[in-house]
Amino acid sequence: MRQVTMDRLRGVAVGAAVGDALGMPLEFGPAIPVDELVWEMTGGRMAAGSFTDDTEMALALAESLLRANPLDPADLAQCFVAWYQAGPPDVGIHTGHVLGLIAKGMPWLQASRQVHTAQPSSASNGSVMRCWPVAIRDWNNREQLLQESRLQSEVTHRHPDCLSACQFINVLISELVLAGDEKTAKERLSSAFEAALDQVNISKEFLAVVKSAQRKQRDQLVNSGWVQHTLESTIWALFNFEGFEETLVQVANLGGDADTTAAVTGAVAGALYGFAGIPIRWTEVLHGEYPLGSGRIWLVEDLIELADRLAGQGT
Ligand SMILES: [Mg+2]
Repeated sequence: MRQVTMDRLRGVAVGAAVGDALGMPLEFGPAIPVDELVWEMTGGRMAAGSFTDDTEMALALAESLLRANPLDPADLAQCFVAWYQAGPPDVGIHTGHVLGLIAKGMPWLQASRQVHTAQPSSASNGSVMRCWPVAIRDWNNREQLLQESRLQSEVTHRHPDCLSACQFINVLISELVLAGDEKTAKERLSSAFEAALDQVNISKEFLAVVKSAQRKQRDQLVNSGWVQHTLESTIWALFNFEGFEETLVQVANLGGDADTTAAVTGAVAGALYGFAGIPIRWTEVLHGEYPLGSGRIWLVEDLIELADRLAGQGT
């Protein structure tokens, strides 16, 4: 594997966790005024640098991917349930409904379908926030990447927009990982964006949101837990700002579902700018426990090692 490829794959894992931690204290808040943007890791309901459920669920997906190639959805469901039963402080509403049913013994497919049927318009960002490990494992296999991006979502989130969003983000990441290094960051981003539009099926309504996102004004962004809003903010930030640091600061300071949007943006920006582009003052305070209650604390070097192991499966 080329050095630049490895640096980008590591950037995906570390970038996602860094975004999650940067957005953590800003979650549920209003957008921060542009002249008062928060540029540092700060404490909130958790200590500064703590990652949240977004990264914990991604680590559960990674655990399952390392055990099964191709992805085994029943094993993944059990990884998610083990995390859920450890009592995480924050669980998405939709995710909690599905995992609660599986925890009571219902097969994952039935549980996922039942919750989707009860609320067919629910299209939250709970599966796109955790989908990046598939992009790392399947960095060299586009067909499997598309299939597994979708399947990992289906375990909890079956809405077509959720499936499209996971595929879109992971194709974007993969294209950026594989891009030549002779082009500028913005040229690589534009090519990857066009490729993702080309390769992923997206509903007409969602497609309009995705295509207009880069031209949105900051005050037009809703940044809620709806998956269309998450992709809109992510695309807006990636196209309108330079470098990993500014891109992440801009998206985390939108408030609302700040940690999830920053996690998704961090995964893509990590592929775009590489691990080397992520500020050291952020990575040196990054931490989080997984499995919950195990006492095992993940630091930046553990995320790097995970990215290397996942990527090694895909070669
Ligand atoms: Mg979270």
